[in-house]
Amino acid sequence: MSKFLRAKFQSLEPYDTSEELESMNGYIRLNTNESPFTPSPKSIEYAHEAAKGLNYYCDPECKLLAEKIAVMLNVKPSEIVFGNGSDEILNFLFMGFCEKGAAFPEVTYSFYKILAKFHGVNYITLPLNKNLWIDVADYAGMDGRTIFIANPNAPTGLATLLMGIESIVLQNPNSLVVVDEAYIDFGGKSAVDLIHRYKNLVVTRTFSKSRSLAGGRLGYCIANEELAKDIRDIKNTITPYNINAMTQAAGLGSLEDSDYYEKNIKSICDVRESTKLNLRKLGFDVTDSMTNFLFTRHERFSGQEIFNFLKQNGIMIRYFSSLPEYNRITIGTHEQMQKLLNLLGGLINA
Ligand code: PMP
Repeated sequence: MSKFLRAKFQSLEPYDTSEELESMNGYIRLNTNESPFTPSPKSIEYAHEAAKGLNYYCDPECKLLAEKIAVMLNVKPSEIVFGNGSDEILNFLFMGFCEKGAAFPEVTYSFYKILAKFHGVNYITLPLNKNLWIDVADYAGMDGRTIFIANPNAPTGLATLLMGIESIVLQNPNSLVVVDEAYIDFGGKSAVDLIHRYKNLVVTRTFSKSRSLAGGRLGYCIANEELAKDIRDIKNTITPYNINAMTQAAGLGSLEDSDYYEKNIKSICDVRESTKLNLRKLGFDVTDSMTNFLFTRHERFSGQEIFNFLKQNGIMIRYFSSLPEYNRITIGTHEQMQKLLNLLGGLINA
C-alpha cells in the first residue's frame, strides 16, 4: 500500500476478480452467469456503426434506449436511469440512499456487503429460512434502512412471490426498497408495475444476462420520477458519460432483436430444467432456480471438491468459501452442460 492512499480506504475489501481472470484461459465459463450466446446480430451491427462516432462524447441520458425501454415496460423515459452495469446503479443507491443503514439477506449478491462497507453504511443481514427462501415477515419494520432484495435471489436462484415483495414495500413506507431483477427474464414476476403505486420502490435490471451484453456493461433502474431524478443527479455529478456509445448502440440493437433473445432465454430455461433433473439423479440437491444458474450441493462431495474436479477438467464453476457445501453453476449451451454432466457422472459413479 502506498503512503498516499487515504486512511479511510486502507482497509478496502475489493471484489476478488482472480477467478474470473483465470476462467478466461480457455475454460468453459460457467462461473459468472453470463450468456453462452453471442450478442444479437443487430447489437453487433449497431455497435460497429457507433464505433465510427467515438470522436464525440456519448449521449449522457441514453435517450434512444430510455424511449425503447419505456415502451417495453410501460413507464416514462424520465423514470429510467442507466448504469455501467447494474452494479453501478447499486453503487449509486448505496452511496446516496442509505442514510439510516441497509438491510439485505444473509445469503445474496455479495456486492451489497462490499458496497455497504465501502460507503460506510451500517447494515444488517437477515437469514434465509431452512429451505433457502427469503422470509418476507422478517423484513417488517426496517426503520428507514434501505432494503436490497435480489429477485430471483443469487446464488440460491429462488424467486420471492410478487405479493411478498409488495408486502415488504408496504410494510416499510419509510424505507427505500431496491428490487434487483438481474435474473428476472429467466423466471419470477417483475415488480416494475408497482413503481407508480409505491414511492419507495426502485427496480434494477441488467443487459448482462438474458441480453448477452455482460462485457458491454449496461444496466438501469426504474423508479418514480422524483427518485429517478435523485439517482440521475448522483450519476450526472460523478459519471455523466457512464454508458459508452458502442454499448448504447448494442443495447438498442438487442431491444430490436427480441425474437433472438426470447429464443435464447427459452433454450437456457429448457437446459436448466434438464440439467437440474440430471444433477438430482446424480445425488445433488438442486434448488428450483428461476435464473440462468443452478445452486447445488452433493451428499458426498464438498463444494470445493466439485469445483476442483471440474476445473481440472476444463470447466469453471463457482465455489463460495462462505457456503462450503454449495456450488453455483451457470447454464451454458446444451453441449456444455452435457460435458459437465458426463464429467460429474464419472466422478460420482466411479
Ligand atoms: N445483481 C445480481 C444479483 C447479480 O448477480 C449481478 C451479476 N453479478 C448483478 C446485479 C450485476 O450485474 P451487472 O453489473 O453486470 O449488470
